[in-house]
Amino acid sequence: MGFQLPKFIRIGGNTFKLQFNRVPDGSNRFGETDYANNVINIGSQNTPERIPSTLLHELIHAICTDRHIDMGENEVDNLANGLVAVLQDLDAWPWEIAWPGEKESYKEGASGY
Ligand SMILES: [Zn+2]
Repeated sequence: MGFQLPKFIRIGGNTFKLQFNRVPDGSNRFGETDYANNVINIGSQNTPERIPSTLLHELIHAICTDRHIDMGENEVDNLANGLVAVLQDLDAWPWEIAWPGEKESYKEGASGY
């Protein structure tokens, strides 16, 4: 199932820009949410299959921040993995992700967005 990512995602009162290949500190993190600039960065080390769960993880962080929910990294990770399992069981999991403006899904080695 293909799924086209939007350029922006609104979470509560904030609109976040989605960027790929832009985890700026050079760490091996799969993703990060930059609250100062309202940007969700998805790291280039994500395989295409991993992008949806990384995005889900970052969205949970952003929702927790917006709703003042105190959730640690472990809880965020477990909640994201639990949602992935449910969505996969429902056959509602976006196995392939297309970035905005790209006709084809992201493939490993592509320059990204
Ligand atoms: Zn996290």
